[in-house]
Amino acid sequence: MARGYSAEGVILKKTNLGEADRLLTIFTKYKGKIRALAKGVRKITSRRSPNLELLNHVKAQFAVGKTFDVVTEVTTITTHKKIKEHLFKVSLGFHIAEITDEFLPEDQVNKELFELLVSTLRRLNVEEDTEKIKKIVRTFEIKLLAITGYKPQFDHCVKCGGSLSKVGNFISPEAGGVLDKKCSIGGTFIRPISADSIKLLRFLQESTLAKIDRLIITHLLNNEIESRLKFYIEYLLEKELKSVKFIELVNR
Ligand SMILES: [Zn+2]
Repeated sequence: MARGYSAEGVILKKTNLGEADRLLTIFTKYKGKIRALAKGVRKITSRRSPNLELLNHVKAQFAVGKTFDVVTEVTTITTHKKIKEHLFKVSLGFHIAEITDEFLPEDQVNKELFELLVSTLRRLNVEEDTEKIKKIVRTFEIKLLAITGYKPQFDHCVKCGGSLSKVGNFISPEAGGVLDKKCSIGGTFIRPISADSIKLLRFLQESTLAKIDRLIITHLLNNEIESRLKFYIEYLLEKELKSVKFIELVNR
């Protein structure tokens, strides 16, 4: 019998392969991000197919394969049904899956990020208020950056260490945080950022999810941190995120 193992994980990505197969990217709790082959799942008679949808939290059996491990059995822990019933929420769910996939190297165990992902999807599933939904996603982004080693510095100017004044600050992914007016002169990959946004991002970075749950963010501030984090993350990934395009399309 082929060697195998069992793993719990969240499905981040699926790619069609051949006539009926699918290649899955799964972020597992104890083995990190793996890619595995699901054979025959695109046939309409496949029983496993509904279990292997994006954002599903599953428990699966794998057989060790030559190129890819093969999914042999799968049971669903949760499908996050309420995310998928809601176009705006599903676009954000895909965004969360995409950036997780982009920032996470293969075969690297990251339990902290796994727990954050599971908690975030659970919150996104039940939340119905638009501003709170956005807050959940921004919280995920800012915490993901810290967990994966890209924590932006918001306490003082990242270049000279000087304290930040109320106005004239810029966010710089290249520098790794916020620059004051003096240090931002001549900078190219920078965007202005308000003192309120800096304070909010610092709060989201440092606080527990339970504490953040109680915070109310205004529409204006939510929009500002969304655009600044998008700028920051896209710079780090050196490309435009597919999911962001989709979110913009849904919101149009
Ligand atoms: Zn400075």
